[in-house]
Amino acid sequence: MALAACHRLHAIEEAAGSIGPWEITSLTTLAQIYGPENFGLSFELFPPKTEAGIKSLFRHADRLVDFQPAYMTCTYGAGGSTQNRTLEIISGVHKKYNLSVATHLTCVGSTAEQLRDYVQRAWELGVEFVVALRGDPPQGETKFQVTSGGFAYANELVEFIRSEFPEMGIVVGGYPETHQEAVSPEADLDNLKRKVDAGADVIITQLFYDNAEFFDFRERALQLGVGVPIVPGLLPVTNGAQIQRIAALCGAKLPPQFVGDLQKHDGDPHGQFEVGVEFAARQTESLLASAVPGVHFYVLNKSEATERVLRAVPLPK
Ligand code: FAD
Repeated sequence: MALAACHRLHAIEEAAGSIGPWEITSLTTLAQIYGPENFGLSFELFPPKTEAGIKSLFRHADRLVDFQPAYMTCTYGAGGSTQNRTLEIISGVHKKYNLSVATHLTCVGSTAEQLRDYVQRAWELGVEFVVALRGDPPQGETKFQVTSGGFAYANELVEFIRSEFPEMGIVVGGYPETHQEAVSPEADLDNLKRKVDAGADVIITQLFYDNAEFFDFRERALQLGVGVPIVPGLLPVTNGAQIQRIAALCGAKLPPQFVGDLQKHDGDPHGQFEVGVEFAARQTESLLASAVPGVHFYVLNKSEATERVLRAVPLPK
């Protein structure tokens, strides 16, 4: 093991307790998590690059588990660059909190064989769910390139995981405001249905700030026969500049009133944080009123904003 990897693992062990393969006891399924009697709260983390980042992640996760999430997920870097870190973090979370976890996984730069190995390793570490994605082109490239012996679209990855790991829970991404490369909203929705038909259990959406976009997307998906739970993905805004950047990257519209409120607090990080939390609380409240089966928070390894939202808006049990 390279020295850097060794230090990283040590930092995770310190933060999460010792790590190693352990027996999978009782499995939780995504169908149970989003079943009629339950509400699926989930949090998304990303693998930090430094030991300090790992310690900070677990400090924030300690606070987030108080809200009793059904599971946490960890993203997978472009080109598979974070494979080991993703697995280390998410298995550390599983071990420390005895919580169900999902690894994100993309098709970028991997053959089917490599993807199988990764899922096998994840399964052995107690990871019960995969967020199965095509992935974005690596930095500096504009077009997704299919790896020889790999997959071109997420529906192919879903089909592969479903056939190789029948017990693995599978989540896929959905785009209320349409994926940026899609030829049309209709085609994008057809492709979403392909992923569900291939075996996806749940759809988690890209972040959005206009609930009307989500409601319309959900309605259109239902009309097309998409029968799995559709879970809104939410990123509470904590900083005006950051959100302009993220929204531009994934094409999410920002309501003008919200942008105006953030601008009123230009140069005042505390004020912008408060505006962001208030907006996210109202957004969550309106989604809950429309009977969503769960909510997924892109917490970006920080707990404060999400904690504030969840204290302001109690979730169904
Ligand atoms: P796909 O569903 O394959 O769709 C990609 C494009 O191709 C779409 O325009 C679609 O309409 C079209 N398409 C799909 N199937 C077909 C088909 N069979 N024939 C023709 N066209 C088709 N990225 C990361 O790198 N790491 C992460 O951890 C990560 N986590 C994410 C989590 C969530 C919840 C979401 C919503 C996104 C995440 N992403 C992540 C971003 C994601 O990788 C990108 O949005 C990527 O560009 C598309 O991935 P996808 O799985 O939605 O692709």
